[in-house]
Amino acid sequence: MRVDIHNHTILCNHAHGSVDEYIKRAIELGIDIYGFSCHSPMKFDPKYRMRLEELDIYYKMIKNAQKTYGNKIQILCGLEVDFIDNRQDLIEQKILDYPFDYLVGSIHFLDEWGFDNPEFIGEYVKKDMEECWRKYLQAITHMAQTKLFQIVGHFDLLKIFGHTPNIKSYNLIKKALQTIKDTQMVLEINSAGLRKPVKEQYPSVNILEIAKTLEIPITFGSDAHSVDQVGYGYKECLEIVKNIGYKKATYFINKIPHEIEI
Ligand SMILES: [Zn+2]
Ligand SMILES: [Zn+2]
Repeated sequence: MRVDIHNHTILCNHAHGSVDEYIKRAIELGIDIYGFSCHSPMKFDPKYRMRLEELDIYYKMIKNAQKTYGNKIQILCGLEVDFIDNRQDLIEQKILDYPFDYLVGSIHFLDEWGFDNPEFIGEYVKKDMEECWRKYLQAITHMAQTKLFQIVGHFDLLKIFGHTPNIKSYNLIKKALQTIKDTQMVLEINSAGLRKPVKEQYPSVNILEIAKTLEIPITFGSDAHSVDQVGYGYKECLEIVKNIGYKKATYFINKIPHEIEI
């Protein structure tokens, strides 16, 4: 069976195409379980996310799609929530109370710096990347410790423009993975990295091998921001995880984990 839990909607202001178009494409591709997890509202960087007042619209939009397409595909409704280290106060209580199927916890910011946004790529020359990786991985660990989220989005996103972690970062990578294991989170295999400058899925094979030794469950997300990105890179990702020894993927309904054979 095929699962894809990370897809966006126009409500985040930087995705294109309708919910219907995404779902029709997912059905065409033979995806069995298809989830939306658009950018959660937050009083930070509002340009790239839905507004808090739009949360009900988002939820209803996905619930309506569940009714329309329920006989062809299983539709899930989640959110991708930004975690900014030391700024947990930015997470809206309303999104935690809402009956979402799952929350994907993602790190797109180091302090104020949106490091995955090409608009701010100029910052990289000023940065010590080893220190950035230290902060990033510490943030992942802290995110897992909150136990607010079910899924870790794109575990090594900081490599997006090619700054992969060096060997010195691996102790912190292991610590982050151990925390993910201890807090029963699921690691997302995110294929968006394949279409970014790094040209590699998140997380890397090295990281996935460590995750497998810890028996951390996985799920799949194409992180589609347009219809043509739905299901992108799935075959490559599937082959990678199967070679590592993964046989199952996890998805969530009402925050309860379910497993399928992949
Ligand atoms: Zn986005
Ligand atoms: Zn993301």
